[in-house]
Order: sequence, then C-alpha cells, then structure tokens
Amino acid sequence: MQPYYTVNTPYCPTATACTTYRRNHYHLWQDLRPARSEDDELAIKRLALKTGVSFGHARDYCESLERLDTLPELKQLVETLHHIEFKQLTLIDSVLNKLGTAPAPESLARIDAGITSYLTPAQPAQALPPHENLRRKLNRLVQAELEFTQPSHEPPPPHYSAGPVGANRGEIVAEYDAETTAAMDAAIRKVAEDNNVSSAKALAGLVLGKYGSPRVVLNMFMAQDLPDSGGFIDGYGWVDADTANRMAEKSDHRRDMAAAAEKHSPNYQTPEDIKAFLNGRDGCCRYPDCSIPAIRCQKDHCKDFRDGGATAASNLVNLCQHHHNIKTDGRVTYILDPRTGAVVWLSNDGTWESTSPEGPLSAKNVNWMRTMAQTQHARRDRAHAKATSPISENRPLHETFVPQ
Ligand SMILES: [Zn+2]
Repeated sequence: MQPYYTVNTPYCPTATACTTYRRNHYHLWQDLRPARSEDDELAIKRLALKTGVSFGHARDYCESLERLDTLPELKQLVETLHHIEFKQLTLIDSVLNKLGTAPAPESLARIDAGITSYLTPAQPAQALPPHENLRRKLNRLVQAELEFTQPSHEPPPPHYSAGPVGANRGEIVAEYDAETTAAMDAAIRKVAEDNNVSSAKALAGLVLGKYGSPRVVLNMFMAQDLPDSGGFIDGYGWVDADTANRMAEKSDHRRDMAAAAEKHSPNYQTPEDIKAFLNGRDGCCRYPDCSIPAIRCQKDHCKDFRDGGATAASNLVNLCQHHHNIKTDGRVTYILDPRTGAVVWLSNDGTWESTSPEGPLSAKNVNWMRTMAQTQHARRDRAHAKATSPISENRPLHETFVPQ
C-alpha cells in the first residue's frame, strides 16, 4: 500500500472533500495574490475587503505563497498532495523569516529538501505532524543554516528583565546560552517533580534557597561517526556542534544507543539505557497530533508485560499520561513496527492511522544529520583546507553530562 496522510485518505468522502477544499483555497489565493509590481499594502487591503478575510490573514496568505516560490520541492509536493493549508504555509514563512531578507540559495535548497522530506508520508494512513513538531523541525533547519552562515558571530549579551505584568503579577525573562539553559531547565524540572510543584514555583524555590542544589543529569545524543552534526539534549532540543562537542568532553558517562536498541530487560520497569533510546527514537508522545516531549512520557508496553511482552525497544512506546489512559481504557490499541519504529493506531470505531518516530535517532533525522555533517565538512574543507576537524572513530551515540 502506498504511503499517504490520513487527510488524503483514498476513497474517504470526508478526506476527499477536505482535500478538494484545500486545493481550491490554495489556487484561489494563487490567482488572487498581487503581482510583485503592485503596491502590496493597497493590493492586500483590496483583497481583504473583497474576500472577507482580515488584512493580516490576506497578507499572511500572499507572503506564504511568495515564500513557497523559493521552495520548489515543497511547492511541488503541496500542489500534488494538498495535504497542508495556509496555517502550515504561514508557519513555514514566519520561521524562515529568521534567515533574513535575502537567504543564500544553498540554504534555501537545504531547507526545502528538509521540509519536503518531513512533510512527505512514509507509511499508509500517517497522521500529519502536529503543528508544534513542524515548528520545532523548522526552527532546527533554520538554526543549522544560521550556524553555517554565521559560524563565528559574537553571541548577543545575555538578556534579563523583571517587572509587573498585571495586577499583583510579575514576570522574569532571562536568556542564556544553550548549555546553561538546558542545565537550568533540567534542575527546575527535577525539583518540580521531586516536590510536586509547578516549574515556576520550583524556579523560585531554587533561586531563594528553598530547595538547595539538586544534582541533575543531562542526556545528549550524538552521532557516532558525524562529529559536526551537533547534538540533541533530551528535554531541550538541538544544539550546535561546538556546544555538543564541549559538553561531550565534560560528560562522565557514555552509552551506545545501538546496544540499547537491541537490549532486553527481564524486569517490568524500563531501564535507563532503553528509556534513553526510546526518547531518542520517538522524540515525543506517539499518539497522533500529540507533541508532549518523550522525556515527560511513560514507556508503554505494546504487548502487556504480563502476557509475555518484552521490556525492549521493540515492544515499548512513549505515551503521555493522557494518551496512556486512553490506551489503558481500551478505546484504542496500537501496533509497533520494531524495525522502523512506526506505530499504527486502531480505534474502536474501525479507523486507523499511523505515526512516525521524530526523535534524533529516527531514520529521517539521522539522514538529515548525515547530510548536514557532509555539507559542513565540505564547507570547512573549502574554507580551511589545512584546519579540517579530525574525525573521531569512537564517538558514542549517547552521552550523559553532569553540569558542574
Ligand atoms: Zn500524548
């Protein structure tokens, strides 16, 4: 069976009608959008008046179509499947705005390939990626390009502000480098969990000395053979190669995720190394349209442990508390493909849909990291022929870093 998204389900009247609606909506705005020579402000105002959508929406639609012209692979995919709508196209445009007004064609080509791959179905009845996951993916693609094009730029001075935001309410906003942010966030989450308080209360308690100094552990994923592909800090996200390499040097424990992927535990409780692999494979809760990070999920046995289900990655899936309850209630069941990590959900009403793993160890991300690492190498080779970074042969797939 051919891969497809559930929003394009063949022979389904609802999916077909909605696809037709998206196609017509898309082509309507392609026909309506003003020519480049026109005065944008006036033309979009006129469009808003005639179509009945707000000025802001009309502008977003037109700008996202203009952006799509710079992403030919994605444009072809969208015009073939009509699986996404202006909500996603506008998100793509707004995140890519971070590249500036005239992004390099090579950067746009890599991003085009990355988004197109991410929005291409890999299996039948696949759920569309949740909006939040698409945003994370886009941010990562843009971040990687900024690292390429601005490798030695000075970091901005740390930002800090505190003040009132309403009646008897205040707000503190602070900005740090990725390593500090990840370490602080891990400490706040640990204190919040240990003391059963909100993250905001945990932060206040830590700063005011109520909770002492918790020992926190950060797990970071790094590719074994790709020293320039950066790292993924569990619970935080991607960091650039320099940050990842610096943190790896300070790590006190390393695990091989290839071994964890194959490991079987005799116990019901999932051991830490298998948990780490599952977080790296899944990225988030595996229920369709859920984007709760894997680090906050439970590790669910697909086949019940009491019925002989193994405590192994081939039988375990990340589910948030809410979707774990839905599964436990028997309203849905699922099948896990142990080879690809794909999950097929079966509902009591007879419908089914599938989700792909989205973590740093998933096939799509590994391929993307490989491409980025190769591109980075090629760029460095050209620019610094004599100063190419040596390639480590023994880089583990997963490292544990204890902040000092
Ligand atoms: Zn969930």
